Formats: sequence, structure tokens, C-alpha cells
Amino acid sequence: MSASSRRPLIAGNWKLHNTVAESVELARAVLHRTPRDAAVDVLVAPVFTALYAVHEAIGDGSVRLAAQDCHFEDRGAFTGEVGPALLKDVGCTFVILGHSERRHVFGELDEAVRRKVAAVLSHGLTPIVCVGEKLEEREADRTEAVVLGQLDAALEGLDAESARGCVIAYEPVWAIGTGRTASPEDAEAVHRAIRARLGERFDGPTAESVRILYGGSVKPANAAALLAQPDIDGALVGGASLDAESFAEIVQAAIA
Ligand code: PEP
Repeated sequence: MSASSRRPLIAGNWKLHNTVAESVELARAVLHRTPRDAAVDVLVAPVFTALYAVHEAIGDGSVRLAAQDCHFEDRGAFTGEVGPALLKDVGCTFVILGHSERRHVFGELDEAVRRKVAAVLSHGLTPIVCVGEKLEEREADRTEAVVLGQLDAALEGLDAESARGCVIAYEPVWAIGTGRTASPEDAEAVHRAIRARLGERFDGPTAESVRILYGGSVKPANAAALLAQPDIDGALVGGASLDAESFAEIVQAAIA
């Protein structure tokens, strides 16, 4: 982990898995394995229907609660949507936004991500803003252009103080759920570019304080090498977060 003052963050994205009872069981197992007062932040993101029950199970202690998405409005004629005020009401403190599955499976556009980021911040919640290139974009040497374009769009209109309230997650689309991981060096290069862009858009202290997570097939076997990179401040973990033991090993890698 970097020598900076950024506290590592390990986030488990459970995606569309687990009933309420299974989510509570997994959350308890994660809580049980998460060291109290460890030098790492840990969060889990269950399905919407399990948020309330998982919060009841974990409380406001060493494991925090995140939602996997939200709408930018709090109430109104938006059938099927859940807004940030309701997420806060059930104990969420983080919201994952712009995940590649939202962008590429559900057609979510940069403008929606921007509005969601602003809405989440306005409720005092922390957005985890996901950015990442598709395989064909990497092969066309467009990784930085795509990633920084998504970053610029998501943070449009924010001041430095608001930007400091965000977490960024770099998740190359070709590495999510595929078993393929960016090499630590390739991931670090993109993280460095993201941090440099934060410095240009805002200021040096903001760039230095924002946590940038890596996501894409993070497992116990590759976590330590990724987390050892100076600009990788944690991980957004999908598949491996569904197993409490594997997730705990990744958390340990962030502490070591
Ligand atoms: C994710 O869901 O954000 C993710 C990175 O998934 P996985 O770890 O399974 O690649």
C-alpha cells in the first residue's frame, strides 16, 4: 500500500446474488473476519432488497454498507427507481455509480452518472465512481482517453471539496468477471493518470486525498501485488467478495 495518508478501502460488490437471509449470513461472516480498528475501510454492497437487513446485522461498525446504484431524484414518478435519501434511510454510506454493467448492459450514459454523483454527494453519501475501458478501446490505445473522459463527465460541476468526497474505481471492462486482471504496472499507469487529472481539474491536495480503487477479477492471489502500487488505494471486488474467506484475505492484503 502506498506511503500516502490515504486509508485503503476494500469494497465487495455482491451484484445480483443472494436472498435476504443469504446476504445477512454473508455480511455476518465478513464482519466476523474484519479486524476491528484495522487500518482499512471495508464495505459490502448487497442487492437493494437486502440493504435494510444487512444494516441491522452489521450496524455502523467496521463494515460499511453500500448500494450498487441509485437514481438522481429522491421521489416522484420514477417507477422502479431508488433515490439517495432512501438509501441513507436504510444505512448506506456509499453508493457505487457508473459500474460498467450499468453502462454497458443497461445503457447508462455519462450524463446520468454525473447527476447521480451530484445527488449522492448532496446527501452526504460517498459515491464510488466507476470508470473503465472496453477491450477494443484498450487495443486501439484509447484507454486514457476513455477513462479520463468518463472521469471528467462524472465530476463535471463539482468543486474541490465535493471531489474530495468521492472515491474513484478504475475497472477495465475486459477484466470484470473474466478472470483476466490488468497487470499491477498497467493498472498503476491508469491510476496515475486519473490522479494527475484530478490535480489538473481541482488541486494537488485533492488529487492526493482521493482514493482510487482497482477492480477487475481481484482475488487473494493477485491482491497484494495490485495493492502494493503507490496509486492503488484499494479494490472493488465482485466474484471473490461472495466468499467471506476470500474477501477477508483481500482485506488482509490491504493491511499488510
Ligand atoms: C465488479 O463487479 O466491480 C468486479 C470487479 O467484479 P469481479 O471482481 O468479479 O471482476
